[in-house]
Amino acid sequence: MTLKGPARLVVPAVRALSPYVPGKPVSELEREYGLTDIVKLASNENPWRASEAALAAMHAALEDIWLYPDGSSFELRSELSRFLGLPNDCITIGNGSNDLLMLLAEATLTPAHNAVYSQHGFAIYPLVIKATGAEAREAPALPANSAMPFGHDLDAMATLIDRSTRLVFIANPNNPTGTWVDNAALERFISRTGPDTLVVLDEAYFEYAQGFGVADGVRWLAKYPNLVVVRTFSKAWGLAGARVGYALSHPEVADALNRLRPAFNVNVIGQVGALASLRDPSHMQAGIAQSLIELRFLQEQLDARKLATVPSAANFLLVRVGAHAAKVYEALLRGGVIVRPVSGYGLPEYLRVSVGLRAQNMKFLETLDSLRGSLW
Ligand SMILES: *Cc1c(COP(=O)(O)O)cnc(C)c1O
Repeated sequence: MTLKGPARLVVPAVRALSPYVPGKPVSELEREYGLTDIVKLASNENPWRASEAALAAMHAALEDIWLYPDGSSFELRSELSRFLGLPNDCITIGNGSNDLLMLLAEATLTPAHNAVYSQHGFAIYPLVIKATGAEAREAPALPANSAMPFGHDLDAMATLIDRSTRLVFIANPNNPTGTWVDNAALERFISRTGPDTLVVLDEAYFEYAQGFGVADGVRWLAKYPNLVVVRTFSKAWGLAGARVGYALSHPEVADALNRLRPAFNVNVIGQVGALASLRDPSHMQAGIAQSLIELRFLQEQLDARKLATVPSAANFLLVRVGAHAAKVYEALLRGGVIVRPVSGYGLPEYLRVSVGLRAQNMKFLETLDSLRGSLW
C-alpha cells in the first residue's frame, strides 16, 4: 500500500508499532455504562495510596508550579543515593520507569542490533525495542505446568543473545504473571552475559517482592558494570499519577541516559512527592503488609472457587478463568469491576487482577460469583 498522507513521513519501525493498551480508566467506564462506585483492579495501582507527607509536599509544591523543575532532580537523586547506599552518579530519574526503558533502548539500539525479552513479559519491552528499528527477540517462557507458570526461562533467553544483542529485559517479578526468577540463576545469567550486552532488571514490584526472597539487583551493581536496575514510585509508593521512576547503573550508562532524556522529564510535583515518600517509608511498608494479606485472601478465595492462580510476588494475580475470559471481563465491567484482559500477552484464558482493599476484592469476588451459571 502506498501512503499518501503525512504517515508516509513516519519511519517504518514507528508506523508498524502496536500501541500499549492500558487498563480501562474509571472515567471511561462511567461514561460508557453510566455506572458509579467502580472498582478498578486493572493497573496494579496501590489502593493504600501515597503517604500523607507526600501528599502535603505535592500540595505545597503547587505554589512553585510556574517555575521549571530542577532538571537534574538533584534533591531526589541525593535522597535516593542515601536511601540505597549508592553514589549519586549511578542514578537517572525518569518520567516513570517507562521513560527509562525507552531511553535505554534509544541509547543503545540501532536497526543493526537486537534485544531479548521473554514471552508473556512486560509489553513495553518489544515496543521500545521495535521503535528503534532493532530486532525484538522473544524467548519462550516456562510452560504452564512448571513451578513458575509462564515465567521467564533464563536459559532460553541466554540462547538468543549474540554479538548484536545490546539489551536483555528481565522483569523480576514479571508483569502480568507475577512470577519471579531464582536468585542464583539470575546472578549466573548476569555473570555470563558478556560486556557488550546490558542486562536491564526491571524491579517495578521490588518492594512487594522482598518478602518473597526475590533478588535485590542493587547488590550486584558494583560487581556487574553491564547491569541496570529499574524501579518506580508508581506501585508500592502509590505515585502512579506523578510519573517518577529511576534507573541504577554504571555511571557511564547513567551519563548517557542523562544526556538523552528531555531536560525537564520529571515534573515538580513528582520530584517532591517521591522525595517526601523516601523520607518516610513507613506508610509504604504498612501498605505492603496489607497488600500481602489481601493477596493471600484473594488466592484462597479463588482457590475455593476452583480458579487457578499463578504464583505472585507482587500486588496482582493472574487468574485462569478459561476460554470465556473475554466474556468474563466484559461481564465484570458491566458489574462495575475493571480487571485486565491479557490475551494481548498470549494468555487468552487468563485475567490479571490487582490486589485491592478488602471491600474492592469482595466486590470483585461477588461479581464473579454472580456470573456463575451463566458463564461457567
Ligand atoms: C508498572 C510497571 C512498570 C512501571 O511503570 P511506570 O512507568 O514506572 O509507571 C515498569 N515495569 C513493569 C514490569 C511494570 O509492571
